[in-house]
Amino acid sequence: MIIEIDQNSGFCFGVVEAIRKAEETLLLLDVLYCLGDIVHNDVEINRLAEKGLITIDHEKYFTMKDATVLLRAHGEPPSTYEYATKNNIKLIDATCPVVLKLQQRIRIGHDSAHNKNTQFVIFGKKGHAEVNGLVGQTNGQAIVLESVYEVEKLDFNRPIELYSQTTKDLEGFHLLAKELKNRATEVPVKIHDTVCRQVANRIPAIRKFSARFELILFVSGQKSSNGKMLFDICQSVNQNSKFISSIEDIDLQWIKNIGSVGVCGATSTPKELLEEVAGAVRKLASENFM
Ligand code: SF4
Repeated sequence: MIIEIDQNSGFCFGVVEAIRKAEETLLLLDVLYCLGDIVHNDVEINRLAEKGLITIDHEKYFTMKDATVLLRAHGEPPSTYEYATKNNIKLIDATCPVVLKLQQRIRIGHDSAHNKNTQFVIFGKKGHAEVNGLVGQTNGQAIVLESVYEVEKLDFNRPIELYSQTTKDLEGFHLLAKELKNRATEVPVKIHDTVCRQVANRIPAIRKFSARFELILFVSGQKSSNGKMLFDICQSVNQNSKFISSIEDIDLQWIKNIGSVGVCGATSTPKELLEEVAGAVRKLASENFM
């Protein structure tokens, strides 16, 4: 049986940097709080928890004082920083530089808009941490659209500025942009393509990869947005694609009579986990079918 790991899968640089900052800080502190999952992957969260990283939610954060808190790559709205200043919370800001730049663009665009009637639109997942951080740059006024089917929420007689959550798919973004241009013919429509190429560039690569194997094992945490998106792409190319979060999810029947297996994952999937999955498949195949 041929088993191959996709070399393009694994952490993006934003996640690598956030984990590096967490580990560096944990060398100096016994306890470090992280606001939200540092990465949407339980295996990695548990590894860092053993070193002293405690994951908290926003409800807990807004009751805390005198602590050190890490902000993950997704970024946070201004209210999180304001609370820290007032409550002696030291922030270790691991917001990805790509997200920081996007937050800044939206904030400046919003604050300096000539026409105060402009609708700021974010193509993204409602309630996602990064999207909340982006909406926060507009004092909560930005309108979040999850797909082109939600455009009726907009007023096509008012100017529009469109941005994207970094991990959304380019195809969906272009579709939405085209629809806005077609519908709002009498007012300015500004399109800002802010899709992160760390994810976008993986799409053609994972498409090619998925087509080469009889079985695809896509490894990701359930909460990862780009994980869901990349898995859908695998499935569209190779119907025999399975979504797993750990080696426990592998079904022996999947590998029966299979000659080749491709193992790939999201930007939040550790390389070690991909290797572990490949190793587990090799072992199961040799113990049961060879
Ligand atoms: S996907 Fe892109 S924007 Fe998001 S954390 Fe990774 S590098 Fe940063």
